[in-house]
Amino acid sequence: MGELIRSDFLVIGGGIAGLNFALHVADHGKVNIVTKSGLTESNTFYAQGGVAAVTTEEDSLNNHIEDTLVAGAGLCHQDAVEILVNEGPQRVKEIIDWGVAFTKKNGSKSEYDLAREGGHSHHRILHAADMTGAEIQKTLSTKALKHPNITVHENCIAVDLITEHHVLNNLQAAFNICFGAYVLKEDEEKVYSFQAKYTMLATGGASKVFLHSTNPDIATGDGVAMASRAGVRIANMEFVQFHPTSLYNPGGKSFLISEALRGHGGHLKNGSGQRFMPYYDKREELAPRDIVARAIDSEMKKKREECVFLDMTHLDKEDVKTRFPNIYNYCLKETGLDITEKPIPVVPAAHYICGGIITSLTGQTSMQNLFASGEVAHTGVHGANRLASNSLLEGLVFSHRAAMKVLRKRTREFHNVFIPEWDESGIIDKYEWFLLKHNLQEIQNIMWDYVGIVRSKKQLLRAERRTYVIFEEVEEYYKRSKLTTELIQLRNMATVAFLIIKSALRRNESRGLHYMQDFPDSNDKFLKDTIV
Ligand SMILES: Cc1cc2nc3c(=O)[nH]c(=O)nc-3n(C[C@H](O)[C@H](O)[C@H](O)COP(=O)(O)OP(=O)(O)OC[C@H]3O[C@@H](n4cnc5c(N)ncnc54)[C@H](O)[C@@H]3O)c2cc1C
Repeated sequence: MGELIRSDFLVIGGGIAGLNFALHVADHGKVNIVTKSGLTESNTFYAQGGVAAVTTEEDSLNNHIEDTLVAGAGLCHQDAVEILVNEGPQRVKEIIDWGVAFTKKNGSKSEYDLAREGGHSHHRILHAADMTGAEIQKTLSTKALKHPNITVHENCIAVDLITEHHVLNNLQAAFNICFGAYVLKEDEEKVYSFQAKYTMLATGGASKVFLHSTNPDIATGDGVAMASRAGVRIANMEFVQFHPTSLYNPGGKSFLISEALRGHGGHLKNGSGQRFMPYYDKREELAPRDIVARAIDSEMKKKREECVFLDMTHLDKEDVKTRFPNIYNYCLKETGLDITEKPIPVVPAAHYICGGIITSLTGQTSMQNLFASGEVAHTGVHGANRLASNSLLEGLVFSHRAAMKVLRKRTREFHNVFIPEWDESGIIDKYEWFLLKHNLQEIQNIMWDYVGIVRSKKQLLRAERRTYVIFEEVEEYYKRSKLTTELIQLRNMATVAFLIIKSALRRNESRGLHYMQDFPDSNDKFLKDTIV
């Protein structure tokens, strides 16, 4: 079995939130970052559109606050939103100083080319062409890898948090404290105990629990599942954002067609070539994502079509190629489609989880010494619906606040507890890929069919019954099988699916991203977070 690895700070996750936290604490202590894949494989890397922040006189902080609150449909925490928007510009400036190169206006040395996306009243999205996330991920990763106090452990998956349930010397003082995490290094087939004074969970999203998702394979909700098993409070898991436009490419990898294309003047059309958004919302293609996703869903069902189309052919061809080189090249290479000549086939797909681990305004969870930031966290900024491009900003602002908090309260000593090695006694089964694959596909299908864009009580109850059976089966299998990344992820996905369904069943209304056919209106009785 693996030995004990100690550091002042353990960061689980190497996306924008984990790296930004690590970079802010690293001058004050040793940092271990664990990422379950390569360092650049994260949701952050795939972000296309950009980061929302007020950087011009024509815009104002109040406008950004107002747009965020409107999108959040009554559930945003006003204090968190104000912090996000007020501190956002400083955090963006900081990463620019670190080397993130956002696209500038044609011919300008200092003025940024600001895009506008759905739900935003002004042009305020800083972007690096259509590969903003990759630019941020690369800059932060490079800086972290160069820092002498940071050690990055790639291809290492955190299995569970270490809490009082694991430590052996039963101290009363050890109650509700996180001591680090058990981490599997799969190539060595060893589970190491990573002990830390402070643990930051920055494991990102969970949209892979749905059959169609814009997220890379790492987005399996591990942080929420680990926290939930440790008894940490979690909120608002029913609010899943479905991105209206992912490339419809049956059998191919999922690929996002950024909102920025609609912001740039793209039109959504049905199979008969008719523009339909003006019939659904006066903001047309720039209505918030939930409205556009439901409109597409409704249009597809009405016409019994498998996709709709995003038409860019009426726009300046060279301009489209220059502004969206990544999307242009991907469509051409993967599907032979020239987006300046033909409309792009698109479908909605699960994209972002608004809920997560409840944190204070400084990233503290309900467990001592455990912090959370980024998509895994619930800070209250998104409410019932996230405003486009606010999530990279949230990752920056709140991971920075968490870093400042731990530096203020920093203790010098490790807790005096004995952390036992990972116990593998009772493991009798070898890895059975087919069993895992079957359960995984079942979860994703159930979530897509019964817990998707439009929900009903009957469908949710059916999903609950069926997921529970899978959940129990996976737990049973987990207890007697050798640990692998796939098994850990499947176990986490079963937990997260169950949390989403449970939360959805508690909200007998429609609000923001949660749309119930049998309760189509919002109801003030539910003007509060769903806490599990
Ligand atoms: C295609 C796409 C486009 C997007 N576009 C935008 C956009 O334009 N603007 C915007 O604001 N947001 C956008 N988003 C959302 C945004 O990218 C994410 O919400 C944000 O990047 C999340 O950052 P994070 O640091 O929380 O997590 P991530 O960037 O997802 O990083 C998670 C990290 O945790 C690691 N990890 C996970 N589980 C474990 C485990 N068990 N053990 C060890 N490591 C683990 C992963 O390996 C990874 O390193 C987009 C998302 C996608 C998928």
